[in-house]
Amino acid sequence: MEHMPSAAEMLGWIETVVGQGIRRPGYPADAWTEQWLAERLSGFGLEVSLEPVEVRRWQPGTGLLRLDDGTSWTGLPLPFTAPARSLRGRIARLADARPGDIVVDELTFTELPQSFVRTLATSAYDPEGSFDTLVQTIPFGPRMMEVVEPALAAGAAGFVGALTGLPWDTRDYYVPYDAIERPIPGLWLSGTDARRLLARLPCEGELIAESTLDTVTTHNVVATLPGASPHTVIVASHHDAPWASAVEDASGLALVLATARHWARVPARERPHNLTFLLTSGHMAHAAGTRAFIDRHRPELANVVLQLHLEHAALRCEAVDGKLVPTTDPEVRWWFTTRAPQLEKLVATTLEAEDLRRSFVLPPDVFSPMPPTDGAFFHPEGVPLVHFLSAPMYLFDSADTIDKVDVAGLEPLARAAVRIVAGTAGWTPAELRVAP
Ligand SMILES: [Zn+2]
Repeated sequence: MEHMPSAAEMLGWIETVVGQGIRRPGYPADAWTEQWLAERLSGFGLEVSLEPVEVRRWQPGTGLLRLDDGTSWTGLPLPFTAPARSLRGRIARLADARPGDIVVDELTFTELPQSFVRTLATSAYDPEGSFDTLVQTIPFGPRMMEVVEPALAAGAAGFVGALTGLPWDTRDYYVPYDAIERPIPGLWLSGTDARRLLARLPCEGELIAESTLDTVTTHNVVATLPGASPHTVIVASHHDAPWASAVEDASGLALVLATARHWARVPARERPHNLTFLLTSGHMAHAAGTRAFIDRHRPELANVVLQLHLEHAALRCEAVDGKLVPTTDPEVRWWFTTRAPQLEKLVATTLEAEDLRRSFVLPPDVFSPMPPTDGAFFHPEGVPLVHFLSAPMYLFDSADTIDKVDVAGLEPLARAAVRIVAGTAGWTPAELRVAP
């Protein structure tokens, strides 16, 4: 694959995108990234269009919890919760809450033993045998996005999320991102701050959680190359992020760009199908870009042989003295794959060929009705899919910086994407579609 960019080139793209700042949906850095992606792709020789996507743009302001004894801690307002300039009241743990309280609830990330995931997988590529003992900390608690719901059920007037069960100290947890507007204000406090708060409860105080919410037009970047069949393969990732995030998903953008440049330099007759490269907007607003693409292109979906999503070339981190330290190992790689045997086999042989260790091939609905990816909404449409995703514990945190990118994985992951696209030569959508 002589047309494949080097890891250094891909890392340069990632650094360029990260350097623009926080890429939340509708933020200036995200709009800049849309234009930059369009310029890269047209520079490679693709036909590019920007398709408008309306997103809810949420911007946090001051976040503060102040007790009547004068103690105060800063925190991150929870995305899409109601703004509050000053909510005064009793502050209590969920278990002791009365209606109208500011309710404090602790969050602990879920630990996932890989020996268990292996029982759910279609296949695994784990030449080191690491899955016998490896336990992955995933970036969610047991209720996933529904962190505020128990407080709402208790009649709370406000919510304080105590990040006491995270392996490192942070308040920058950009969850929930389902763009559901919860009716009470909320604030994340770091584990260190929250433990001090918990020792004082119940008490009286004031919650300040300022934010603004409006609707803005963003864009999906859609680029096409003609190929040798009447069918289409879609290769995708998302350009927005919770922070100036490197892994989420500047790394996915680099993989899609690398794949696009490879296929742009190959003669059209050697491209197995028409190719669409899709960089979506609004992942952090309930996958608004993917949903908009599907709404706009639904009549064409029956023609799609494969939808390949590329998300998160991530290093596994360990927590040392309350700080995240990258290891030299990749985070566990999930390859959600439609249950068509020839497609599962193509992915499994690709993982081995590119030595993509710590990989699982998983059914798309193994964890939830849809895969936990930006491309999730393609699954209920019946589109055959391969969604690569790893879920390191820092995925939604400002700690997702350049040093967390699995640089050694960039070239094999991009080559894997090319192999998977090439492997669909001669296949038709009908033979890969299975009942959703
Ligand atoms: Zn992502």
